[in-house]
Amino acid sequence: MISKIIAEEKVVKAKDLIYDAENIAIIAHSNPDGDAVGSALALYHFFFSIDKKTTVIFPDRYPAFLEWMPGANKSLIYTEQPEAVNAVFEKVELIICVDFNEPKRAGGLKDLIINSKAKKILIDHHPNPLLNNWDVVISYPQLGSTSEMVFRLICRMGYASDLNKYCAECIYTGMMTDTGKFTFNSNNPEIYYIISELIRKGINKDEIYHKVYNNYSANRMKLMGHLLANKMYIFKEHKTSLMILSLEDQEKYNFQIGDSEGFVNLPLSIDGVIFSAFLKEDKNRIKVSLRSQGLFPVNEICEKYFNGGGHLNAAGGEVSLSLEDTVKLFNNILPEYKDLLNK
Ligand code: 5GP
Ligand code: MN
Repeated sequence: MISKIIAEEKVVKAKDLIYDAENIAIIAHSNPDGDAVGSALALYHFFFSIDKKTTVIFPDRYPAFLEWMPGANKSLIYTEQPEAVNAVFEKVELIICVDFNEPKRAGGLKDLIINSKAKKILIDHHPNPLLNNWDVVISYPQLGSTSEMVFRLICRMGYASDLNKYCAECIYTGMMTDTGKFTFNSNNPEIYYIISELIRKGINKDEIYHKVYNNYSANRMKLMGHLLANKMYIFKEHKTSLMILSLEDQEKYNFQIGDSEGFVNLPLSIDGVIFSAFLKEDKNRIKVSLRSQGLFPVNEICEKYFNGGGHLNAAGGEVSLSLEDTVKLFNNILPEYKDLLNK
């Protein structure tokens, strides 16, 4: 048995909304990661098994290493199929948003969600959700992943037996990726009880690991080597690493969506580094990814300086600056945190 983390009245209300809705849309955040895709597709399979018609919508494309996920090819991608997505919004009666806590994270879908008259449920694990506009908010930042929450919600609604193998595979993928393969946010023993239940549903956890982490291109590996050797800067007195991926290097290594996934974590394996920053140049912006170990709050830095947010140890944001100016900004910020980094 696992503890009842989700408040009973939220379970009841969510179940009622689901029962009443004919057309349901499940929406994850832009730049979807394993937990976003996992929690969205897990719900898709669950609804399928209880005869509910649902559509999963991603604001933009998920990375290639998640293409194998069951149901991924049935989802809609707004940047690629805007008309099909608009047609879904015309009929939708219930919108379930997963793995994000502010409308901005829905990218191009933001206004469609805000303006929709459909009922809305948020299922998420980021701190401080923006609370307006939701009929039910199921948000518990103490959980390592939204996918774990989807498992808990399905069970609490009394549908554990309807949770099939496909659903279990998606849940496991989200749990694994959002905890760095169970290396952080993963000390709750109930996580391992849940995994044992997912294995009983028929998942092959070793195969899922292989599909997610052992399917990269040679170019990605070479790019990683290049960045580690030439584009990683260590600030010893700040216990910090900064890694930079320019558009030029992306072109040189035939960069594909998802190729830099995980790069930001690499410097944390260096003795003495507890704060890692990764800057990725896009056409009109710089995407910022921050990671930390211990109590250093990277979400606060993202909120304050990079128009973003996230978790204590994993956060992101973006700025409309040049790469050069973003590096300058980062260098200017660092001294402010010297004491905290050396605590
Ligand atoms: P990543 O660095 O992998 O893009 O994101 C790590 C975490 O930071 C995400 O799971 C999400 O919680 C948060 N995050 C990333 N980008 C943004 C952003 O632009 N805005 C906000 N609020 N959070 C973000
Ligand atoms: Mn997540």
